Amino acid sequence: MNARILTATPVVEKTKIDLKERCLALKNRGITPAMSVVLVGHNPASLSYIRNKKKICEEVGAKFTLEQYPSEISEKEFLGHIDRLNKDPGTHGIIIQLPVSPQLRNLNLPDLVVPEKDIDGFHSQNTQSLYEGSADLKLLLPCTPKGVIKLLQFYNVPISGQNVVVVGRSLIVGKPLSMLFTNLNATVTLTHSKTRDLREFTKNADIVVSAIGIAHLLDETYFDKKRKTVVIDVGMNTFDGKLVGDCSRERLLSTVEAISPVPGGVGPMTVVSLIENLIVATEGQLKGIK
Ligand code: NAD
Repeated sequence: MNARILTATPVVEKTKIDLKERCLALKNRGITPAMSVVLVGHNPASLSYIRNKKKICEEVGAKFTLEQYPSEISEKEFLGHIDRLNKDPGTHGIIIQLPVSPQLRNLNLPDLVVPEKDIDGFHSQNTQSLYEGSADLKLLLPCTPKGVIKLLQFYNVPISGQNVVVVGRSLIVGKPLSMLFTNLNATVTLTHSKTRDLREFTKNADIVVSAIGIAHLLDETYFDKKRKTVVIDVGMNTFDGKLVGDCSRERLLSTVEAISPVPGGVGPMTVVSLIENLIVATEGQLKGIK
């Protein structure tokens, strides 16, 4: 039998309906949720990600602003802009689009945006709740991990008590995701480039999440058909001019139980989770004002 394809479309549509309602409720109280994306330079990949964020943001009725600065902007000037946005009561969510220019890379970027406007979920105060054991998806959590969990929950994939293997230990995906799975009572193995015999782990997993960045690395030799593994492919790689994941999807169809597609899986889940964070942040700031 062929694997189920865990496409993001129905989850995104359902989430958008909820977010539209919450956005309207905020507007009825005189507040239009508004996010600003700070972009340094003209990275084409960044501009493409930003377009996706703008689209969903405006679809739910929120306001989107792109603040674009020249790549040679000084540290002082850059910090001045972030400070202005942090203090602006009409801005509820702020993103610093990565990568930034080399002269800004020594800054503690995750902590520059105040925690209550940190819709990327990177501020140390926001990640702390994750490390303390929270599994509350209503908090300002990093968007890709949040999107992965929402996708699994929508398709009723059990998490509690399951053996989960996360491949990749980045700060934006692998590490926070492994924490979130732990908080949801999964037994997690966090693997990476120095893991000896990755297959030994993936073959014994109920859920495998790949966040590696190598096209088609995981093929059928990484899985045991009897395990009925669910595979979530976070990877976004270019191969033969096309966007592909870390998994060789066609070769996995008869080996795994279910798999998320690339494109159309974790990518859209990440964007909608970001807009959800914007609504969460705005609701939180409104409570703070009262
Ligand atoms: P990264 O690029 O910072 O690091 C890659 C990780 O993969 C490292 O932890 C490394 O140890 C591990 N790795 C490398 N080679 C490996 C191997 N042979 N075996 C096992 N592990 C190996 O990670 P990232 O920023 O999390 O990005 C990973 C991928 O996910 C990229 O393709 C990126 O584009 C994609 N991504 C997608 C989304 C989305 O919204 N869909 C979001 C973030 C990242």
